[in-house]
Amino acid sequence: MTALPHTTSEYQALDAAHHIHAFLDQKALNEKGALVIAKGQGLDLWDTDGRRYLDGMSGLWCTALGYGRADLNAAATRQLEELPYYNLFFHTTHPRVIELSELLFSLLPEHYSHAIYTNSGSEANEALIRTVRRYWQVLGKPQKKIMIGRWNGYHGSTLGSTALGGMGFMHEMGGMLPDFAHIGEPYWYAHGGDLSPEAFALQAADELERKILELGAENVAAFVAEPFQGAGGMIFPPEGYWARIQSICRKYDVLLCADEVIGGFGRTGEWFAHQHFGFQPDTLTIAKGLTSGYIPMGGLVLSKRMAEVLVEQGGLFAHGLTYSGHPVAAAVAIANLKALRDERIIERVKQDSGPYLQKALREVFADHPLVGEIQGAGLVAALQFAEDKASRKRFANEDEIAWRCRCIGFDNGLIIRSTLGRMIMAPALVASHAELDELVDKTRQAVDQTA
Ligand code: PLP
Repeated sequence: MTALPHTTSEYQALDAAHHIHAFLDQKALNEKGALVIAKGQGLDLWDTDGRRYLDGMSGLWCTALGYGRADLNAAATRQLEELPYYNLFFHTTHPRVIELSELLFSLLPEHYSHAIYTNSGSEANEALIRTVRRYWQVLGKPQKKIMIGRWNGYHGSTLGSTALGGMGFMHEMGGMLPDFAHIGEPYWYAHGGDLSPEAFALQAADELERKILELGAENVAAFVAEPFQGAGGMIFPPEGYWARIQSICRKYDVLLCADEVIGGFGRTGEWFAHQHFGFQPDTLTIAKGLTSGYIPMGGLVLSKRMAEVLVEQGGLFAHGLTYSGHPVAAAVAIANLKALRDERIIERVKQDSGPYLQKALREVFADHPLVGEIQGAGLVAALQFAEDKASRKRFANEDEIAWRCRCIGFDNGLIIRSTLGRMIMAPALVASHAELDELVDKTRQAVDQTA
């Protein structure tokens, strides 16, 4: 590590003096001091005191290739030397963004043809809201503008993406807008009652139909959801959910929009999470794994049908960001996608490392008194805390329990995440068996110590 100009406590004091951290009580954090991460390699991170952590969360679901990839670094450096900036405003473009699209659309199902690039997932969802509304406007249906999301869905922190998301506490902090609505999440463990997961899946999906009828199909533009829900308590919908949602959207001419920001680029063992669940969205929002988080980049991917309407009939679309399709980000994205493809990393997640992690977690926690279920596929998994496994009774203070577990993990050198009574892990897609063993062992220790 290069010599640092400050000690850890100096960094913490400066951090407290100048930063407001995301989703945390700042005052409480300032009393303890933030964890200052200074270096990463593979799945390992080191703090400013040289302590090692196993990163079980790929940063924030993004470092698909792990830390320290020389090829991504070289791609960025080359591009910085050649053309550090240009844009897609008005009538200009540049080679890297075109090459990126050529590669991206060779990896996506044929159904998709166009992209609008952004710098983040939040901006990708902002672009989604505007593009979807524009699409219906161009088709002569300007009143079709209500976007339906799901409670506890997360689509970002900008105003539109917050309104689209279903985090009540974010709405209360000045984050709600008109023309957004929400339906319940397909969370069988909590809301399934006596129903089988499959019967509950249909019931949960049918809520969309009721909501469309309540609002009037002529007013509903789109249904937007994560194929598997992430930040709002990781939830894998039960079998049958997505097929029913797809047929409801088709029946009422409502666009189906998948937020692939965390599910995209291999997380489930397929290139995109909607492929894992077997449905065909009209749009995809992407970010994070697109560049392995090495540099900010996101995007909105449109189906051929939507792109044709917007391009052939839409005329000028007044939407653009200075850094859309930034050449350095595009160069890193190309190197990242080539590595995922050429090193067959996603195939390995599907055939080897994914099943390895899923099996190990289910075995290790099968008889754990605190753990109600394990969900997940590929290299993403969630562990549900339960007070009584037989009746699926959840702890009243499950949030607090999960947070405690997360903190114990951190103290033991493991980075995992807690949300709403669930522990989440999403390690880099390059994780070895030994690293996955360490992830499972340390998670077990953290859960044991949480009891
Ligand atoms: N969509 C989903 C599903 C996410 O999980 C996130 C972030 O975690 C976002 C959108 C927002 O992405 P960003 O933080 O890059 O704005």
